[in-house]
Amino acid sequence: LPLPDRQETCAHVRYVPHFNMDSQVRGFFVLITDITKRKRAESLLQKREYELAHAVRLNRMGEMVAEITHEISQPLFAISNFAKACTTCLENGTGDTMETIGWIRRIDDIATMASAILNRAKNYLTDKEFARSTFDLNDVLNESVELLGSDTRRRHVNVQLVCSKSRLDVSAGRVQIQQVFVNLIRNACEAMEDVSEVDRHVTIHTSCKDDVVEVIVEDNGPGIAPDSANKLFSTFFTTKKNGMGMGLAVCRSIIEDHGGTIDSVPTTGHGAAFRFTLPLVLDGVRDE
Ligand code: ADP
Repeated sequence: LPLPDRQETCAHVRYVPHFNMDSQVRGFFVLITDITKRKRAESLLQKREYELAHAVRLNRMGEMVAEITHEISQPLFAISNFAKACTTCLENGTGDTMETIGWIRRIDDIATMASAILNRAKNYLTDKEFARSTFDLNDVLNESVELLGSDTRRRHVNVQLVCSKSRLDVSAGRVQIQQVFVNLIRNACEAMEDVSEVDRHVTIHTSCKDDVVEVIVEDNGPGIAPDSANKLFSTFFTTKKNGMGMGLAVCRSIIEDHGGTIDSVPTTGHGAAFRFTLPLVLDGVRDE
């Protein structure tokens, strides 16, 4: 078959037995179908679906932030006004003590109401979008690498997995952990844009030590600029022309929400390495 290109040629091979008059197998016909185009279309579709899901999630988060800001600003404004009134009365020694106590009680009530608004938002996120289940972290890593397959191939990045042989069960929001992998791998790929194609390597190690699962994503790029080091995880920090500066901040919030840690760590080579941990679930009952 003519090979459309070296990287993404797929074939479907079928062996059809050929029988003689005594029903004995005489040989096989080998049918080879070039399914490269179909596979490319599938992978493009998968990429588009992922981008759409990501955009929908970002959009939903944006809407929620706007709604929370709106709902919380009024109680905060009221709390501030009551507090000012109390301070004025106490400083001047004027006003009725019972009335001042009433204002302080209102502050307490309003603060409780504000906290209920925040809890409602948190439950919404936890229940719908980010339901937790127990799964093997290695499985989600493989899914994430597959998801980014067409992107990494296009960028000529060689992704190598050095996975723990034992299961790494964690209890987490599967989509959220996938998001962490995707953000870290995508950053690694983007960091290697100026590296020669043959040297674009991302290595991902997974292991477990003392009931803590550890993941290290290491690349071969220029590494972290010294003046960026302490700002990496801040929201809106970016050194990229079209960056949003949300990727690492989202990673940190997801990992810390799951009882883990995430940081940039020194590398063996000259690139960058990001390490995150999550608590291991011992004898976990798998949900999938
Ligand atoms: P964005 O990708 O939109 O810039 P991030 O929060 O994901 O937002 O990353 C913030 C910044 O951290 C990047 O702009 C870059 O300067 C730095 N950074 C992240 N990952 C790497 C990496 N693997 N190598 C070098 N710098 C990185």
